[in-house]
Formats: sequence, C-alpha cells, structure tokens
Amino acid sequence: MQNSVLEIHPVTIEGGEVVYRGIFCAPCRNDASVTFRVPVNESEPINESGMVEAFTLVFLLPAMRVGLPFVVNGAIDANFRRNLEQLKGFWTNLVPEKFSMIETKFTDCEEPTPEVPKAAVSCFSGGVDSCYTAIQISGSDDGAIIPCPLEGMVMVHGLDIPFRQSEVFESAFQRSEKIASSLNLPLHRISTDVRNIQKQFDLDWPTEYHIFPVASALYLFSHRYQLAVIPPGYSYDKLSLPIGSNPISDLFLGSGRMGFFHHGASAGRFDKVKAICGHQAVSDNARVCFEASRLDRNCGKCLKCCSLQIALQLNGIREPKCFSEPIDFQYLENLALENHSVRGTFQEYAKISRERGEMQLLSSLEICLEKNRHVEEYAQQQKRKNRFNNKLKRFLSKIR
Ligand SMILES: [Zn+2]
Repeated sequence: MQNSVLEIHPVTIEGGEVVYRGIFCAPCRNDASVTFRVPVNESEPINESGMVEAFTLVFLLPAMRVGLPFVVNGAIDANFRRNLEQLKGFWTNLVPEKFSMIETKFTDCEEPTPEVPKAAVSCFSGGVDSCYTAIQISGSDDGAIIPCPLEGMVMVHGLDIPFRQSEVFESAFQRSEKIASSLNLPLHRISTDVRNIQKQFDLDWPTEYHIFPVASALYLFSHRYQLAVIPPGYSYDKLSLPIGSNPISDLFLGSGRMGFFHHGASAGRFDKVKAICGHQAVSDNARVCFEASRLDRNCGKCLKCCSLQIALQLNGIREPKCFSEPIDFQYLENLALENHSVRGTFQEYAKISRERGEMQLLSSLEICLEKNRHVEEYAQQQKRKNRFNNKLKRFLSKIR
C-alpha cells in the first residue's frame, strides 16, 4: 500500500542561521519542503529537540488531504501520539469533506518523558491578544495562571508578514522587542517558508492552518521552554468552529516535551485593551493591522485599527503613537461593519462612550451602527444558512 512520507533532514548551519528542513513526499504529487530558520545566536546550544513534533504538525493537514497512511521517520513520545489521534479526530469531524482520517506511523516511539514545566514561552505578534496574554502571565508569578513563569516569547516571520519582506519584518520585530523588553522578556525570532504549503495543499489560513506552523516554531525552542502559550484569536463568546487556533484543539498540539496552553479567551476586546493600555510600550508599538501597505504599521482605516483606536480613546489614550493620526470621526461614521460580531463590539463601544461622556465618539458610533443596521439581518440569514450547510455536510460524510 502506498504511503505519504515525512523525511526530517539533519540540522545545518547556512549563512549564520540554524536551518531545520522537512520534506513531505506523496505519490503523484510534487515533494513539499518546509524550512524554519533561527539565527545561530538564538539557538545556542544548537537545538535538535522538538523537530519530529514540529514537522509532523506542519505536514499533518497536508497528509490528511492526501488521505494515505502518513509515515514519519522519527520518534515521538506517547503523549504526542495520543494528542495526534485527538487532533486528527477534531479535523475529520469538523471538515470531513476535506480531511481524511489517516494512520500515522513513526519509525520509533519513545517512552513518555513528561517534563515538569520549568519555563513557558508565548508566541507573539505585537497585537492586542498577544500583548494581553504576555502582560497577564508575566504579571502573575505565583502559578495562578500557568504552572511556571513566562520566560520568553517567539515572533515568527513568514506568517502574517511574507517571508521575502525581511525589512518589513525587521521593523515589526523591533516594535515588538520594545514591548517584550518592557516586560523583561527576551523575544526570539524564527522565519519560515511554510506559506507555500498552504497554497500547495489548498489549506485555508485562518480557519484551518495558521496554528500548525506557530506550534512547530515553538517546538524548535523546546530545549529552553517546556510550556507553550497560545493567545486566542477570539474570545469564547465570539468563537465559531472551525478555526485554526481554539481552546479545544490547541491543547492537542502538546507532547511530553512541551505542553500547550490556550490563554485569554475569557476576556473581550475592550477588557483586553483596558488591561494593556497602562503599558506605554504597548500603546506606542502595538501592531494589529493586516491591511496596511507595509505590514509593520497600522493603517488607521481598517476595522481592526479603528476598533483599537476607539478602545484606546475610551481608556483615555487619545493620540496613541501606534497610529500616525488620531481618530477620523467622519470616516468612522461611514465604516462598514463586516459581521454581527463586529457590530456587537461597536454597540459595546457606544454604550461605554455614553457612560464615559465621550459624546463626539458616541455620535459617530451611533451613525455608524445605524448605517450598518442590515448586518443584524444578514447575520441571522447566514446563521440559518450555516446550520443547514453543516447538517448537509454531516449527512454527506455519513453516506460516503
Ligand atoms: Zn489597519
């Protein structure tokens, strides 16, 4: 019987970087290669642990797209093996038309060696969620939130900022580093060309794939940290599956070498901004925008930017340095709110504006909400449509 196979190459040093490379081979398909690169000084001593977990995760969804048994030339521990079964079940249950349940075979299986976590690492983008998580966890060293202290953060180049835009990433990294150093945390960097895989295997970035390369990048720091912290993309009340990172399947990314912890989903957007805006390094350097012409900056015009500007103003920060201009109230009045969830957030902002006597902001928000009244109706229609589609998908997967 045919298999798909993952070959993990020995670590090499190329141009001052430690290079981790995995190649996925499947019948009748071009081989797919992914590299992760860490500056040599970031990886001292040169780390070789966590590579099997890292590349297994990167190629798991591609292997489930291919649908053949997935053979990995490497060893894993029993915790990772168990979690992998849960992870496969999660994706075949949620997206059965795209992902098949496959057998995963490892050429060797180590005994479980659960480490008592001594240090945690968080992935960091410089956005509201990752700043909130970093501030909350680094401010609590009594074990009340996580069992060990947060001692570092990792920023990955090649995810939201394209791999080829080194200069843009460097600038974004420097902004993030200012936030990290204000919290006395080192910020590690790692780059990857993994976006090619997403295109090659037709994986949707936000709803399916983006957490896998993030987890892989964190595994390549597992020689220093035994617990990985993932800040959420959505709070519990805004969560809608499937979504790549969520409080359920993030926990299935872990192994005996490194556990995974999803932090921050119980706080809403406004509460998060309220918690972080007392840190000047954050309000000066936060980066939330995916629509700016340069992704190291905030455009000040998209929904994410406007939402952050409003939340900062409601917390007394009128001209934050992370935006080049203050809020444009007239622009705000004409903003298109893309869905029911965003409209809900803006309704909350209007309520707080009234409570705090921010009358100019309130007036603009009310005009904006009125212009977006149809979003409610559209959201209800979409909900009914999604419910019907999900039922149909489940029915079709059962009769296949
Ligand atoms: Zn923007």
